[in-house]
Amino acid sequence: DEIEALRATHISEYPDFPLPGVLFRDIIPLLRDAAAFRTVIRYWTSLLPDDIEYVVGTEARGFVVGAPLAYELGAGFVPVRKAGKLPGDPASLSYDLEYGSAVVQIPEGSLPAGARTLIVDDLLATGGTAAATLELTRRFDVEVVGVSFLLELEGLHGRERLPDVPLTRVWSLP
Ligand code: IMP
Repeated sequence: DEIEALRATHISEYPDFPLPGVLFRDIIPLLRDAAAFRTVIRYWTSLLPDDIEYVVGTEARGFVVGAPLAYELGAGFVPVRKAGKLPGDPASLSYDLEYGSAVVQIPEGSLPAGARTLIVDDLLATGGTAAATLELTRRFDVEVVGVSFLLELEGLHGRERLPDVPLTRVWSLP
């Protein structure tokens, strides 16, 4: 169908980026095509649960897809940022990467307890980023109604790290 056709034409692939052996998927061709970007955001919105109050998006491409989703849904947008970028006293979580670790943060007071909250990012690979975002988001005692991605790389089994939350995605690749 139309949405599936857009995956083939609007996601490009770069072998050996950022490391040898990695096939990098680039969503910029989708972002820069006005009609395609609007079509995909509206289709994505149709997959999501009702009455979402907050969209939580992960730096940096989770901002680019999360903000228009929030706007379409009539929800607020809350950024998850890498350490050192947020003022005040943000909530922080350290998580393991393949080599080393990273810290993600959410602005203090940004999610009221009980709020219906959706977590989004552009791409689900190993699931480490989404699992860390989910754990950090849940510290606010919100109701996480789902995690949602533009593209799921199924072969990396990231969804197995998100077993207790509904998962939706626009596209998947083996
Ligand atoms: P994960 O933590 O392994 O699931 O990786 C997902 C995170 O890394 C997301 O924030 C993505 O934006 C980014 N990422 C991983 N692989 C790719 C890729 O092939 N293209 C674009 N972003 C990627």
